[in-house]
Amino acid sequence: MSTLRDPAAALLEWYDRHARDLPWRIGPEPRARGARPDPYRVWLSEVMLQQTTVAAVRDYFHRFTTLWPTVEALAAAEDGRVMGEWAGLGYYARARNLLKCARVVAHEHAGHFPETAEALRKLPGVGPYTAAAIAAIAFDRPETVVDGNVERVIARRFDIRTPLPAAKPEITARAGALTPEARPGCYAQAVMDLGATICTPKNPACGICPWRDDCAGRLAGTAADLPAKTPKKPKPVRHGIAYLARRVDGAWLLERRPDSGLLGGMLGWPGSEWTEGDPAPAPPIRAEWRDVGAEARHTFTHFHLRLALRTALVPMERTPERGAFLPLEEFRPSDLPTVMRKAFDLAAKG
Ligand code: SF4
Repeated sequence: MSTLRDPAAALLEWYDRHARDLPWRIGPEPRARGARPDPYRVWLSEVMLQQTTVAAVRDYFHRFTTLWPTVEALAAAEDGRVMGEWAGLGYYARARNLLKCARVVAHEHAGHFPETAEALRKLPGVGPYTAAAIAAIAFDRPETVVDGNVERVIARRFDIRTPLPAAKPEITARAGALTPEARPGCYAQAVMDLGATICTPKNPACGICPWRDDCAGRLAGTAADLPAKTPKKPKPVRHGIAYLARRVDGAWLLERRPDSGLLGGMLGWPGSEWTEGDPAPAPPIRAEWRDVGAEARHTFTHFHLRLALRTALVPMERTPERGAFLPLEEFRPSDLPTVMRKAFDLAAKG
């Protein structure tokens, strides 16, 4: 098959046969029969997929849509419950915005998501990418959707050698020029699928690609090296101390983090500031603290964290200076953000 005719048509033809089966997606066949995607599910999946893989999102998506099948149900959910279910997906500001957005849609838009990218961008936590993705996928608008997968595919197809992020405007313009008027929602998903399954970061499978005949990167032999990236500065390392206090009745001393800032609104172990030098001790309760001798390590967007761990057993009558004891039966390690769960697992072993 030659693809020198129309790239969008060639890609859609491939998509009709090879579309990934995703729980939030209406596949090409039911779509052709008139089935429409549920904008709530499209929005939820797009928020979950920001910087997270499809494999990691599937279970979360299933749990969220079982617990809260509509945007109104999510809007009515208790904040702590939603944050707990989000734990492990990371980027907790997204979970807070998720709730805010659900409430705006439920209360100010009568439960209906706006249909244009411009109107969608006004919703909390919905940036240009997510707005374009929802408008295209849920409402079949001819929006240009450019995520990491699409950047890679387009940079290769047009042999764009300018490193990212400087190449973004060119990539967006090229991607926009390819977007068809017909079936733009399927097309947006087709480019994403091509990037996820054929035009993969390493070893693109050009031999079975619907764009193989006119892909400039393949013809120039540069495909596997694209997109070029400006080298990143190494991330700094910050240090902190987490205090895991257990009361004799089994209750754990936990603290809800302030809404703004890293891990905002999440439950965590009280601790010191996180600093690039030695952290100042900040025990949340008077106790005989024991050094676990292991560090919980975690990498955030802008730094690596090394968290030293202290544990203590405290008597019933002692009052904490920070945080509150959570009874054992209410404590679910899975409600903790990943770094706090790592701390718990290490302290339990140590
Ligand atoms: S031919 Fe190869 S490099 Fe070009 S779009 Fe297809 S998989 Fe990617």
